[in-house]
Amino acid sequence: MEYISTRGKVGSIGFVDAFMMGLANDGGLLIPKEIPTFSEGTLQAWSKLSYTELVLEIFSYFTNDEIPADELKELVTASYSTFRHPEVTPVKKLSDELYLLELFHGPTFAFKDIALQFMGQFYSYVAKKKGAKIHILGATSGDTGASAIEGVRGKEGIKICILHPHGKVSKVQELQMTTVQEDNVLNLSVDGNFDDCQRIIKELFADLDFKAENQLAAINSINFVRILAQTVYYFYAYFQVAKETGSVKVNFSVPTGNFGDIFAGYLAKRMGLPINKLILATNENNILERFINEGVYMPGDFRMTHSPSMDIQVASNFERYLYYVLGEDAELITSIMEQFKVEGEISISAEALAKVQAEFAAHGVLGAECLATISNYKEETNYLLDPHSACGVAAAKQCAGEGEITISLATAHPGKFNEAIELCGIEQQYPEQIQALFNQSQRQTRIAGDKAAIAATIEQFYRS
Ligand SMILES: *Cc1c(COP(=O)(O)O)cnc(C)c1O
Repeated sequence: MEYISTRGKVGSIGFVDAFMMGLANDGGLLIPKEIPTFSEGTLQAWSKLSYTELVLEIFSYFTNDEIPADELKELVTASYSTFRHPEVTPVKKLSDELYLLELFHGPTFAFKDIALQFMGQFYSYVAKKKGAKIHILGATSGDTGASAIEGVRGKEGIKICILHPHGKVSKVQELQMTTVQEDNVLNLSVDGNFDDCQRIIKELFADLDFKAENQLAAINSINFVRILAQTVYYFYAYFQVAKETGSVKVNFSVPTGNFGDIFAGYLAKRMGLPINKLILATNENNILERFINEGVYMPGDFRMTHSPSMDIQVASNFERYLYYVLGEDAELITSIMEQFKVEGEISISAEALAKVQAEFAAHGVLGAECLATISNYKEETNYLLDPHSACGVAAAKQCAGEGEITISLATAHPGKFNEAIELCGIEQQYPEQIQALFNQSQRQTRIAGDKAAIAATIEQFYRS
């Protein structure tokens, strides 16, 4: 497999190079040159595999044997050995038509662990193999930061700097990031919102001199490896549900911020997984809902909501999907993205919109509906949803057709978002790993949302 950029100006590169490049050097996003498709027979055979076996099968189509098989197996095994559930991503049945895919059994209690525990192992592997220094730089709406830090804390040859929006992450998210005492970790608490953090790091990655001088590496979903790791659980979940229901097409409902997780679902569909509709769940920051329903992509005013990990207006992965839905034309994408930079808006044709709506449905879940969903499910099924997973379930209800089966992604454990749970009048018991965070001291640097100031601080940290 070779990797190319959505903007067409990066020659074909291999898997390890694509991983290390992160954001494509022409400002676009890296994608595989072809999407492999798997036959029904292959899917049938895969349905008997364990989670880690399935990871290795799917990865084998993307890694070109650049990592020897036994070493890749070690990396994958180590990545998922930190999960608290033997199935890694178990599926729970809530009703005949609704299944929940629990993605929060990793060390930081959110789905980000599934890709980032692997990426941590992989960065460490590359650092050792190449004797290279790796400086991870990322922006987080709360969960990516915690997970990426957990994946590389104390690891030789690696430093990590994470920008999070000051006062706009949950208390537990903040504690998970800032109670880490290892010196290879720097937390910047930025005055601004997540979009500001993401824009600043994207600009730093686009400055190729800065990127090379500082040996920058990406953990945000601009990195294709993160998307790839997330395609696996779509397959795994489908296989578990199909054991009960037979091989019928299913919907997936996906709480969405950066369009990363749902793009992984789109890839799984393109690879041959029998997915009916991809249901895109958002909160009040509903730019993607409006795109799917109206064909216009236009970031509006940022809102703080009960589901802070989805408080995103500019979805960095959207460009990947646009590339495919507009006919894989890199020149067109380049001109659209340049125009977007100036005008702040992308509109697609009615014909393209029809293609989008054939594959996606969308629902923006407002605060009251989110909290009501948490309360109702707790009362009716005694299952406590976190506010992001509740958006997924509410959107599934809204968008799934009569009799259709939907697998809704539970992207975080409710213990991470007690702010919303309390508003429902529910008292929860924290898992012990979360409870333990409250007595630990925090390390973070508050900083203005200013690119030059942040660049200087980052450089100093990486050189220290
Ligand atoms: C990151 C995150 C999301 C959104 O995922 P994207 O890949 O950005 O669409 C949803 N829920 C939780 C809990 C998250 O941490």
